[in-house]
Amino acid sequence: MRILIIGGGIAGTAAALALDKAGAQVSVHEAHPDSGADIGAFLTLASNGMLALAQFGAAEAVARAGFELTAMRLTGDTGSVVSTVPLGETGDPLRRFRCLRRAELCAVLREEAVRRGIDVRHGQRFVTATEDEAGVTAGFADGSTARGDLLLGADGIHSVVRPLTDPEATRPRYAGQRVFYGYTTEATPPNEPGRIEMLRGSTAAMGYAVSPGGETFWFARVSAEELSDAEIAETTPARWRERLLPLLRPDATPAADIVAATDGRLMVTNARDLSTVTRWRTERMLLIGDAAHAASPATGQGASMALEDAVVLAKSLRDAPDTRSALERYERLRRPRVERNIVDSARLTPRRAPSRLQRTLEGYRAKWKSRTGAPAPSSASAATSDGELARQLDWDTPLTADSPAVQGS
Ligand SMILES: Cc1cc2nc3c(=O)[nH]c(=O)nc-3n(C[C@H](O)[C@H](O)[C@H](O)COP(=O)(O)OP(=O)(O)OC[C@H]3O[C@@H](n4cnc5c(N)ncnc54)[C@H](O)[C@@H]3O)c2cc1C
Repeated sequence: MRILIIGGGIAGTAAALALDKAGAQVSVHEAHPDSGADIGAFLTLASNGMLALAQFGAAEAVARAGFELTAMRLTGDTGSVVSTVPLGETGDPLRRFRCLRRAELCAVLREEAVRRGIDVRHGQRFVTATEDEAGVTAGFADGSTARGDLLLGADGIHSVVRPLTDPEATRPRYAGQRVFYGYTTEATPPNEPGRIEMLRGSTAAMGYAVSPGGETFWFARVSAEELSDAEIAETTPARWRERLLPLLRPDATPAADIVAATDGRLMVTNARDLSTVTRWRTERMLLIGDAAHAASPATGQGASMALEDAVVLAKSLRDAPDTRSALERYERLRRPRVERNIVDSARLTPRRAPSRLQRTLEGYRAKWKSRTGAPAPSSASAATSDGELARQLDWDTPLTADSPAVQGS
């Protein structure tokens, strides 16, 4: 089977590795001229993401690129510690949480794909696709085309593939928070190796972790109006720092000192999510990763969910009798879990009432039913079980028509 993957970010490159392992012939078409890099955000990969990576042999390379997080400490705005909890599966070194820049994760996955002989093409901006009984043809901005049996839209939250699988899909929505993040080697906040610090400030929530090399990685989430693209492009890091500092200074935490010690490596973005039930697939196209189910960043699960997608899709195509039943099986197994993550993340993102979000999801399901005559895939019957998730991801455990879906993250 020949599979065209649009987007060489986390979901796209991971899917390429997993599908290659399952025996498919894949090509990755990434718009960025030389990498899937972005403006420099970092992320934490949770144990479930590391478990997914292990299924296609990429956990060790990713583990080397990032640093371990084994505990999380929560501190209130008065400076008193509220709790310290272990993070994820700390017993297995390869399943520990990892902190790394998104661009580093993409680079490791891409290097692994190229090393395995996978066709990864840069500078190919997808613009459209047409499908027929025999296959699907992708068209790119440079006038080139590519032909395959299946096309995966792994092109992120602003997906260009999405309107092709769901012409009625709504655009991603602002989730109510600005996310600042930065890096500094000039701060010396309290820290312990492997511990991420969460600071529940009076106005902004902040998190930081100090790498073994002494670099502080930090983010801050602030409820406020959406920033325009122009404001983001035109505002300097120094100006963002000036705007953020007064929100942090009143708290008896290290938050303000960390931000004050951050020079040019300070960025901001709008938190967005896809809080409607999007139609993920046609006969020959399927959305994965953020293109299908972007959540606001609060649960820190978007990348791990994209890695899970890759494994479950590859196993579904490997184990189902034909492509249509493979895609159905994939959606039945994935939708409850990723929708739950969108709702959970919205719950942690003030200003977006989760009940309203839930109502939106329910309203869309009703619309889906009237449009297709069939009930929308639901999260109601999904189990919440780490053991079940491990079985679902385990490469050697077949995915059968009655494999149970898993919900919690
Ligand atoms: C501030 C912030 C913090 C986050 N923190 C975390 C965290 O701690 N943990 C976590 O797990 N997740 C986190 N996330 C979410 C995580 O970054 C995403 O879920 C993840 O990047 C999704 O991967 P993806 O491959 O689906 O999309 P992306 O990473 O967006 O990749 C999409 C790729 O498609 C390419 N592309 C786009 N359009 C086209 C086109 N037309 N043609 C060809 N290629 C195209 C892009 O260049 C890009 O390389 C965070 C997100 C944000 C915004």
